[in-house]
Amino acid sequence: MAEEKRMLFGPEGYPIPGMVISGKYPGKTLLVTAQIHSGEYPGTAALIRLGRQLDPMVMHGTVILLPCVNMSGFVQETDAYIPEDHGNLNRDYPGEGNGTTAAIARYFIEELFPKADFVLDLHSGGIPEALTPCMFVPYRMEEELMHILEVVDIPYAVRSYNEHGEAGYAANILGIPSLLLERGYGGLCEQDWINAYMQDVLAVMGALGIVDAPVRDVCTTAYFTKAWYPESEEEGLWYPCIRENTCVRKGDILGHTEDMEGNILHTYTAECDGIVLYYRTFLHVSKGTPLAAYACTS
Ligand SMILES: [Zn+2]
Repeated sequence: MAEEKRMLFGPEGYPIPGMVISGKYPGKTLLVTAQIHSGEYPGTAALIRLGRQLDPMVMHGTVILLPCVNMSGFVQETDAYIPEDHGNLNRDYPGEGNGTTAAIARYFIEELFPKADFVLDLHSGGIPEALTPCMFVPYRMEEELMHILEVVDIPYAVRSYNEHGEAGYAANILGIPSLLLERGYGGLCEQDWINAYMQDVLAVMGALGIVDAPVRDVCTTAYFTKAWYPESEEEGLWYPCIRENTCVRKGDILGHTEDMEGNILHTYTAECDGIVLYYRTFLHVSKGTPLAAYACTS
């Protein structure tokens, strides 16, 4: 039966607004989430707008749209983490104990993943990051996902071994095909990124047979089986000398850290030839903070 239902998801005490759009005809169920990391906004706006546009009368199957999973982080304007316990929904699955992050992860595992034939998780570069559009492909599902990569208008795809994030757990542990997409960055919510995300979700719905596949030109996607994620080895001031979507050669300087007097602490170099997917833009950096990500071409 064709139906649109707005409702609250989430574990007890943590309401997550969302929408279920059930098509007139039977078909697959697609779960789409955004802002599991607070401060990553384009996916949120895209899902809110898409939810108002979709017509269940022409749909084969169901979409479940959760535009903002980390609601407390969103309204408290934190960067990425669940503020109640500083949890990370892209790192802390399946969750243990009584914390909010574990409760959300368990809710997804018990209530949402069993309904889903496919999971799409929309991210962006964080507030302190600059990023070029890219996607992360759970390694256990690569073959099943290749035809989906072809319809998404994102130029770089990287194999992901993450088994402790929403998409990574769903795919690599539970065997549900899942993709993690990244568009936009820096706490911005540009209209181009919102539109592009809406088109990406529609294209995935098309590939799953939920709607007619949209006719559009998409870029070819380069697939990388390895990426590097250098982290800061000390607290300091971070001076990157790379930009997103540029090439680096093995041995090139990615950037360096200094102390407050301007003394160089550490110089970071590329471990392989690659393409810079994102890098940290904030001047201050703590020990262990990701400085950049680059996909290896050699
Ligand atoms: Zn994210």
